[in-house]
Formats: sequence, C-alpha cells, structure tokens
Amino acid sequence: MSRTCDACAEGTLVTFADLGDIPVLCGVHWADAGAAAASPVGRMTLGYCPNCAYVRNLAFDPAVLVYDKTMDTNLHFSPAFQAFSAELVKHLAGRYQLAGKRVLDIGCGQGEFLRELCHHSGATGVGYDAMYAGVEGPDPSGAEFHSGYAPRGAELPSFDLFTSRHWFEHIADPYEFLADLRAQAGDREVHGYIEVPDAVYDLSTAGWEVIYPHVSYFDAYSLVRIAERAGWRVEDTGTLFGGMFRFIELSANAGDRPRLGDQPIPGPAEKERQLAAVSTFQERNAAEQKRWRSRIAELVEAGAKPVMWGAGSRGVQFLTFADADKRLAAVVDVNPRKWGRYLPVTAHRVDDPATLTSLQPTAVIITNPSYQKEIAAALVELGVEAELLIA
Ligand SMILES: [Zn+2]
Repeated sequence: MSRTCDACAEGTLVTFADLGDIPVLCGVHWADAGAAAASPVGRMTLGYCPNCAYVRNLAFDPAVLVYDKTMDTNLHFSPAFQAFSAELVKHLAGRYQLAGKRVLDIGCGQGEFLRELCHHSGATGVGYDAMYAGVEGPDPSGAEFHSGYAPRGAELPSFDLFTSRHWFEHIADPYEFLADLRAQAGDREVHGYIEVPDAVYDLSTAGWEVIYPHVSYFDAYSLVRIAERAGWRVEDTGTLFGGMFRFIELSANAGDRPRLGDQPIPGPAEKERQLAAVSTFQERNAAEQKRWRSRIAELVEAGAKPVMWGAGSRGVQFLTFADADKRLAAVVDVNPRKWGRYLPVTAHRVDDPATLTSLQPTAVIITNPSYQKEIAAALVELGVEAELLIA
C-alpha cells in the first residue's frame, strides 16, 4: 500500500497503526437490529508522512462508502455546538463583509450553518451535501440547497467565500478538491474557510474519532502544506471547540496586504508534535480499548448500570472497541431521530435520555469532553445522580 503523501507530495506514507475492521457507516442507524449488525465494516490502516505528518487511512475504499440522505452526522442538536457555530457565523460575517456576496458551503449537512450565515451577513449561498435531506432549492434565508456532491470544474457557481466544515477529511482526493476550487477562483479575490477534526487531538488521545469516513487526519502543518500546494494563501489557522477542531482560512488574489490572522503560520515544531502523537498512537489506542473494557466490566459488577451518552461517530467507535459484547445498560442520545434505532455493527439500541430517570445508572460514559457541562446539567434535570466518565 505505497502512496505518495496527499498533502506535500514529497514523502511516502508509512504504516503506523492497524485498527482492524471498523463500522463504515458510523452516521447511520437502523430500525432493525439484525440489519445494523450486518452493516459493512472496512479496514483502518493508518499511514503517516515523515515529511509533513499528514495521516491517512491507507486501506480506505471509496466504493464502500457512498453518502446519501439516510446518513445523519448532524451535530446541531447539541447546545454547545450551536453556540460554537453561532460565534463562527459572527466571525466570518465580520471578517469578510459578506453582504451581497455568494458563499458556497460544501458539505453543508442539513444547512443550519449556511442559513444562519446568509441570514446574519446578507450573503446569498449555495449548499451541497449528499446527506442533505431537506427541501431542495432556494430558501427564505437567501441560501439554496442541493442534495448531492458539489459540482467540479466550471459547473461550480462563482463564489466569494467557500466554507467546508467537517467534510474535507472525508474526501478521497483532498488535494484535487482544493486545487479545483483554486482553479475556479481564477483571478478573482476569493476566500475559503475549512474546518476539520484536529489530528493532533485525535491521535494523541484514545482515537475514538479515528473513524472510517475520515480518510485524512490533518494537523496544523499538513493542512497548511496541502492548502499552499493547491495554490492558496493561508490567512489564519488555529484550534476551536476545546482543541478538537482545527480551522484554516484561505485566500486567492488578495494582493500583498498583511495576513488576516495574527498567529504565526504553523512550522516544523507543530509537525514534531504530530509525529510524536503518531509514534505512540497504536499502543495508546490498544491500551485505551483494554482499559475501558475492564472498566465497564467493573462497573457492571458493582451494579452501576453504566450507560453511554452520545451516539455520534465517536460513540460508535467507542462501542466498537470497548463494548462489542454489549454490557452497557443503555446508550442514549439527544437526537430524537435516533431513538429506538440501532447502531452499526455492535447493534446497540439508542434511547431517549429521559429513560435514564427510571434506569438510574450511577455511571455515565461520554466520549466528547466538550459536551460534559450540558450532559451534567441534563442528568441533574433527569434526577440522575451519576459519575460522569470521560472516555
Ligand atoms: Zn507529506
């Protein structure tokens, strides 16, 4: 599986971790437990670039992962994520003076972010997402939506700003994606905003966010490398949302005015951090899997009726690695579309958090520390006195 680095095109990717077969459709849920259990798995074999620290699943097969409207990777049910998104809208609207301009949102999910951005800034927008399940066409916010992938090449509408949140890491050829957007910009001044999970966070923790749909894992350095190689100028980059997300702001044809960001462009020191995380990842991931399997066994033994709160992709990966034999008393999630339905491969059923009032677990496991406060508050509301355990 020899592959030239997608980010810098100078190194050859070197295998450093094999996580075995994992669920492919980690944003899908099924009405039937049997169908969930029989859903596809794919191999996760991570490779890194010694030259720029880019990380990729070398075993990724785009043929097994086709996005459609049945998938649900929506993060907007969480108040913490909503608040974060609202701040971002304010920032982008202020920085780019978007009134009368056109924003393309590539990987727009269910359109919440683009609608809010258009509404707040006076921009018009076009959103694309194969998972978009709403009404297609124009919408009162000034945005229009399409269920499907964004067109490539000259088919793409002209734009002043493109945004792409939590989609870039899913693309099989991320360089081509950025190079095509740059080519479409031609000699017009345009800007771009990309947000991805921060790979330093993912690879220096247990790795619950190392999921099949994530083909690429970008840290600060490799994200800058791929953007610059595709012909963009880097205006700003940094982390958001408790360090879990990384953003990069790009421009083309912005002349020689100073960069918009005031932080230095990430250099080799950032790359070294990522290479250090990479070098210990396989060992850490295996140790965390083992630790959580024994922890769950102890909690069950002690009568704690442990449950997991949060059935998103991190939750699915945690269940795959730590509770494949389903010893947890329940899995709950705030998204009502998941209630009574089953998660891929392990086939855990997802319930309404309100069911915890009668279950009365004394241990609640969460896989995303950013939601700790809101989950703790919700437990109080539900009359559940439980220890919150962060995986
Ligand atoms: Zn590289």
